[in-house]
Amino acid sequence: MTDISLPERLRGAEPVRSIRTFARLEYAYTPGRAASRFLNQVTNKRLVGQRCPVCEKVYVPPRGSCPTDGVPTEDEVELGQSGTIVSFCVVNVPFMANLMEIPYVGALIQLDGADIPIMHLIQEVPYDQVHMGMRVEAVWLPDDEIGPTLESIVHFRPNGEPDAPYESYKDNA
Ligand SMILES: [Zn+2]
Repeated sequence: MTDISLPERLRGAEPVRSIRTFARLEYAYTPGRAASRFLNQVTNKRLVGQRCPVCEKVYVPPRGSCPTDGVPTEDEVELGQSGTIVSFCVVNVPFMANLMEIPYVGALIQLDGADIPIMHLIQEVPYDQVHMGMRVEAVWLPDDEIGPTLESIVHFRPNGEPDAPYESYKDNA
């Protein structure tokens, strides 16, 4: 079928199916008091959650209140540098701007002392050996590169401890 609406020079040309454009998005993020305290402590390689006075759950990163009980969380709790993998995902899909070599593993890690897992990368172990209950530890950037961001942790790696018992993380699995 000939599209007679096209100029002569475009007839029979390969139809355009996609175009690539460059987008840039700049924004300012205001984390609020609780998250600011947390991020500032990250600059000292400390991971500090907050405990709810009602349900006693320890949140990390803290948001300043318990979403279940609606009360402020002000009691600070220093968390471990190690944690337990409660869930994970093997990523096999490459995408633009992603510098990771695939496959790689993203995991939910319940830090020691916390009741809520954080999401981070798992490295220094073959992807097919990652499993629930695996004990991992934080690997930090060099001291002079650490800033108020969880990206100051490069990734988590196995810490050599035996697997955590399922009971210890079942609420987040
Ligand atoms: Zn609570």
